[in-house]
Amino acid sequence: MALEPNPNIFANNPLDRVSDKRTDEAWLKEKMDDPESRYVPFYNLQPFVLPEVAPGDGKDIGWLPPQMVKPLMTSNSVTVLLGINKRGRALFATDLSAGENPEQTAFKGMGEFEDLRGLAMKGEITPGELAIMAQGKSMIDWHLRHGFCANCGYPTDMMEAGYKRVCPDCKAEHFPRTDPVVIMLATRGDKALLGRQPMFPRGMFSSLAGFIEPGESIEEAVAREMMEEAGIQVRNVRYHSTQPWPYPSQLMIGCHAEAETEEVTVDGIELEEARWFSRDELRAVLAGENKGFWVPPAFAIAHQLIRHWVDQG
Ligand SMILES: [Zn+2]
Repeated sequence: MALEPNPNIFANNPLDRVSDKRTDEAWLKEKMDDPESRYVPFYNLQPFVLPEVAPGDGKDIGWLPPQMVKPLMTSNSVTVLLGINKRGRALFATDLSAGENPEQTAFKGMGEFEDLRGLAMKGEITPGELAIMAQGKSMIDWHLRHGFCANCGYPTDMMEAGYKRVCPDCKAEHFPRTDPVVIMLATRGDKALLGRQPMFPRGMFSSLAGFIEPGESIEEAVAREMMEEAGIQVRNVRYHSTQPWPYPSQLMIGCHAEAETEEVTVDGIELEEARWFSRDELRAVLAGENKGFWVPPAFAIAHQLIRHWVDQG
């Protein structure tokens, strides 16, 4: 039975990840060479994208056959298995950053490498493909930055189609990371708390967020971050949804929480300002009215947290 749809961009990955096949090296080699398999090349962590066929059609991910991609790989190129699509094709992501940009050579005139965030914001490729690109980007980024053993410093080898690295010297195993982050909307009656980080674009307010620390539960992280950043005490933390966030590999865990206190004290470091907004103000802003501030667009989980709470009132 299918899962309920998740409202967040980069979620709802449609592939079968076939984790049981990753250890089967013969199967993996066969799929990597199979002319029916497809590769999406990445260059500087940007996926290859084909232009629109007609205006308004949307762009397509540049899924290329092995014979177009394999000649451009070097012995150090990272290639990871993404999964099997509904047509039974094996899909791979491969990093070609070590060589000359193929946009100017082998792929000239076909398309270009594009920033994933821009593609997500503009809604130019389908949600399912955005989710697959998030998976590919996080995986490639991890391999490029984790070539050496964290235990002994020796160069490590990629194993299991990219889902593990093993140190040939001390035998330590290393797995691709996912870093959990809580992002939460604290509410009190008919008001919700939003804050501004100094780096935010002018006028934007969003949900508060922070990394979960070792040995901490989701609820404890929500309560700690709310107290540290805004001086607000919360209770009754409720989970809403999660969003994979490939910058480089966070998992945003969206929650709502009830504030027990109202007086805001910002830390001045992570937040420069935080204040309470009424449900009516937020409803108007979501509907596109100018109220002198704005909230993140629909591709951000903060938007979904705000919208869910507004729609309940
Ligand atoms: Zn080692």
